[in-house]
Amino acid sequence: MVLGTGPAGLTAALYAQRLGLSTIVFGDTPGGNVYMIANLMNYPGFIDGITGTQFGLSAFKQAQNEGAIFPMTRLDLFGRKEGMFSGVDTDGKTYTAPAAIVATGRAPKSLPVSNARMKGIHFCSICDGPLYRGQNATLAVIGGDNAAGQHALSLSRIAARVMLISRSDRLGMDAAHKTLIDRHENIEVKLRTNVLALKGQDVIEALTVESETVGITEIPVDGVFLAMGWQPNTKVLDFHVEKTPEGYLVTDNRLMTSIVGLFAAGDVRDTDMWQVLAACADGARAAKYAAEFLER
Ligand SMILES: Cc1cc2nc3c(=O)[nH]c(=O)nc-3n(C[C@H](O)[C@H](O)[C@H](O)COP(=O)(O)OP(=O)(O)OC[C@H]3O[C@@H](n4cnc5c(N)ncnc54)[C@H](O)[C@@H]3O)c2cc1C
Repeated sequence: MVLGTGPAGLTAALYAQRLGLSTIVFGDTPGGNVYMIANLMNYPGFIDGITGTQFGLSAFKQAQNEGAIFPMTRLDLFGRKEGMFSGVDTDGKTYTAPAAIVATGRAPKSLPVSNARMKGIHFCSICDGPLYRGQNATLAVIGGDNAAGQHALSLSRIAARVMLISRSDRLGMDAAHKTLIDRHENIEVKLRTNVLALKGQDVIEALTVESETVGITEIPVDGVFLAMGWQPNTKVLDFHVEKTPEGYLVTDNRLMTSIVGLFAAGDVRDTDMWQVLAACADGARAAKYAAEFLER
């Protein structure tokens, strides 16, 4: 049983099938979070990159062609019963398996304000950025890592002005992203700036921010894209399993969690690289060790 249809879950399914296991994969988004990647440039083999959507759909079809079963439902509950893993999906059906791989990824964190879900607050620039096309918009990206950099870069092609707002004193992204951001005149980086509040009735109108240099000010914006860190998706697990203080699943060097027969792969795991390539490698290894476990 594989939980998650992102790169880790799909690769786990591909390898598990090819290793002779019968695999059922839960999830409703073929490719998981990769749909947010405009152009996947750092996966070997695609010289000019590949869109995240295309990559996800191909990996999905590849696992399907190998015989993996995809009910296209998520698991609502995942527990343990009489030595088996047991999952109840969103259609209310129960499935059991002697081994499982958790590849549920992680979700972006939101702002700790009551109106954080108002119109104009987004998590995915690829998905929602086009809403602002041709509107001479001013957009804010909150965060400073590679994901924030990607949001800012893709939005700079759509908006008149993009502000990249980070509370740190430097951007925590790699040099390639920093160089690209420096080259875009319509991206303005605001460091040491804390977002205090979102202003607007039903639709975002402005951000209240605080910085050491300017104090508390209001910045008018048409839209906000959040890239403020992540929460591992582990709520579905209905039993105690060892996690890091940040909530990532702890695994041994064979990707087994603290529960015998339960493996973890990809972004949900205590990894040091939250990337497609690393997630795929994890998926392949988790399938190999799950097969060895089942054989034993
Ligand atoms: C904007 C952005 C840009 C990025 N750019 C790059 C890049 O250029 N290069 C790169 O290598 N990486 C990039 N990444 C990171 C990359 O997308 C992730 O590392 C990768 O998708 C992780 O794969 P995964 O399979 O572990 O998890 P995910 O892709 O998150 O997939 C997990 C899936 O499991 C689902 N799930 C959760 N709970 C359940 C449940 N109970 N039942 C069933 N399914 C469940 C989730 O909804 C999700 O669809 C980017 C990420 C973002 C957000």
